[in-house]
Amino acid sequence: MSDMLARGIAFRLKNELPPEARFLLEDFRRAVNSTIRAGLQARVSSRNALVKLAYKDFRREHPDMYAQHLVSAFEVAGSVLKNYRRRLRTRDASRVPYVRRLMMKAENQAYKLDRKNGIVDLPIRAGCHVKFELQVSEYHRRYLDDPSLKLGSLTVLPDRLIVAFRKEAPEAYMPESALALDTNERSMDGIFVKGDEARAVKADYQEIAIIQQRHFDRRKRLQKKKSQDRRTSRRMCRREGNREHRRIEYRLHQVANAVLSFAENQKSAVVLEDLKGFKPTWNKELNRRLSLWPRRKLHQIIEYKAQWKGIPVVKVDPGYSSRTCPICGRIQDSRMGTEFKCECGWCLDRHINASLNLLQTAISKGLEVAGGLRFNPGAFQHDVMMILYAPDKGARSEPNGTSCVGAVTS
Ligand SMILES: [Zn+2]
Repeated sequence: MSDMLARGIAFRLKNELPPEARFLLEDFRRAVNSTIRAGLQARVSSRNALVKLAYKDFRREHPDMYAQHLVSAFEVAGSVLKNYRRRLRTRDASRVPYVRRLMMKAENQAYKLDRKNGIVDLPIRAGCHVKFELQVSEYHRRYLDDPSLKLGSLTVLPDRLIVAFRKEAPEAYMPESALALDTNERSMDGIFVKGDEARAVKADYQEIAIIQQRHFDRRKRLQKKKSQDRRTSRRMCRREGNREHRRIEYRLHQVANAVLSFAENQKSAVVLEDLKGFKPTWNKELNRRLSLWPRRKLHQIIEYKAQWKGIPVVKVDPGYSSRTCPICGRIQDSRMGTEFKCECGWCLDRHINASLNLLQTAISKGLEVAGGLRFNPGAFQHDVMMILYAPDKGARSEPNGTSCVGAVTS
């Protein structure tokens, strides 16, 4: 049994959404929201239970809707309910869920995509179909023309469609080198080791921290200014937050692409620290929690992209990686400044030092590299830094970006 991977690719439409499709989106949203209400009342959230609970009423209310769409409305409602239950368990209060944005989802049997001409055919009810013409760029062609990719679900939004492409996870290659990266607030720092050669590397994304700080300040200002009107304030903060997330995610994708294209060219195994370890608690200051989110997200993006391309990724427990001396093994009491200094005479940039420890942990846990790594920390040359990503240099961008990405197991 191998993992099925899914990747959502967004397409803009050549023309505006036809009115029939807009009505369908409205119907779909109504169906999702009333299923959510019914599910809450009856305290069920599995798709089958929801179907049993609400199907008959729905058929009466939406006699014309294509049956497949109704079933996928139940599915969407089911996942909204599951998320709501999870939130209830972890936080004390959570608002009753309601889907606000116009959307609909169609499973792969419920629509047709002409991959050559980029036309989606979506049935609405018996005898009525709508056709969407997609804007197809070279980036989209890579997915449309790849016969190994199967079609998954289709998500229709007022301004774009998201098509899920699916494939079996390819087997990862046998690495010929290693790229160990320590993930920090403003950069990934690490080393690249091939045979007996080792070099310092850096992916610099300090602009992400800057964007975050700017939005954080603006949000605080908004809250203060609109404090007499909590609803407006909340809405504006949410809009700010969404915009911030999109801008940051776009950059995280670029960083991940740069790191992975380097790894792929060098046939490297990527070594990262497992960030699950540090869990900031809710009562810690907000700033700290905000600063962890992009790092987790970056790892998530790197991991699924690597899986999609068959690039091996090894996650290791960071343990004392930022405080351990890779030469003599002493653990320093506290974190020092930007330099790691040890009584044995070892001295190195703190972040790069951490990545050395990550690599050593990975090797001791069984990371194998074809031909082996004759890596000697003492002989490590770190005066020349290889830049994998820098804000002004950038990486090749993906037009329209990718969104709604996830891995599913089957
Ligand atoms: Zn030492």
